[in-house]
Amino acid sequence: MILYIAGAGHSGSSLLDVILNNHPKIIGTGELHRLSLNPNTRICSCGELINDCPVWRKRIKQLCKEKSLQLEDWEMSFSTTYLRSGSLSNKINDLVYWSNIDEVIRIFSKLNPFSIGLKKSILNTNAIHEVIKSQENIRIVVDSTKNAIRMKGLNLFLDAKILFLVRDGRAVTASAIRRGEGNMTKVTKNWTRRMKILTRLQNKIPSEQLLQIKYEDLCTDPEGIISEICKYLSVEFLPTMLKIHPGNYHTIPGNPWLVNDQTSEITIKKDERWRNELTPQQLVEFEKVGGLVNRKLGYVS
Ligand SMILES: [Zn+2]
Repeated sequence: MILYIAGAGHSGSSLLDVILNNHPKIIGTGELHRLSLNPNTRICSCGELINDCPVWRKRIKQLCKEKSLQLEDWEMSFSTTYLRSGSLSNKINDLVYWSNIDEVIRIFSKLNPFSIGLKKSILNTNAIHEVIKSQENIRIVVDSTKNAIRMKGLNLFLDAKILFLVRDGRAVTASAIRRGEGNMTKVTKNWTRRMKILTRLQNKIPSEQLLQIKYEDLCTDPEGIISEICKYLSVEFLPTMLKIHPGNYHTIPGNPWLVNDQTSEITIKKDERWRNELTPQQLVEFEKVGGLVNRKLGYVS
């Protein structure tokens, strides 16, 4: 089974990914679509480059051998064309938002380059899932790529279960600004666009394949929320899932909070730096563009 974490960046998906990875029947892979993008310079959360990480080396070797795939061809063309090119990506997302994406993907799957690329990337994703499951005797692979089109493709073609992870948009935008992704107007527009398209594309996902959780609830009640996710996945909750030991994980990309300190156990705590960081002017800017969407997600104060 595939569990796909959907949401915006800076929403706590790396935290959720490693918690789930602590279950013996689950492997967290991180943003799996990045696997074939610059593997020579991309760092795994174990601290090694992807090409030097023994776990990924073994997986990639089998993938290339058994599935006759070259890693470079894995899904790079789809990702670079449609998902990773800034304004083009936004235009595609806007187009998808207004179209009936299920029909576009289904009916025209053999005709248009968008659907062909998406299907190829999803089938290649399935190939790496199969490799991981066979090598590591697990049941569930977690993919926290997060974007909406991949969510739709994985659910349509592979019946993936979706976990929609939401976080207060003000915390997300403050984090994006901290990481140098732009000013308040830009990062709020990006977050709002992502939330709108994710919400719309979830319309036709069967309810038993969709679970929404809040980052804030995960941090204040990790046992309750992880128990709920385990029930959704039909696996037993284990208290050891909440013990995070950096160095034990092989997720892509290596998130700095996992890579930088490989020695001590990480405590799960809510990051609310936005409350001190955002200026009154920035909060007004956020409200203008993203306020309504934020309230619809349940963030009312
Ligand atoms: Zn690794």
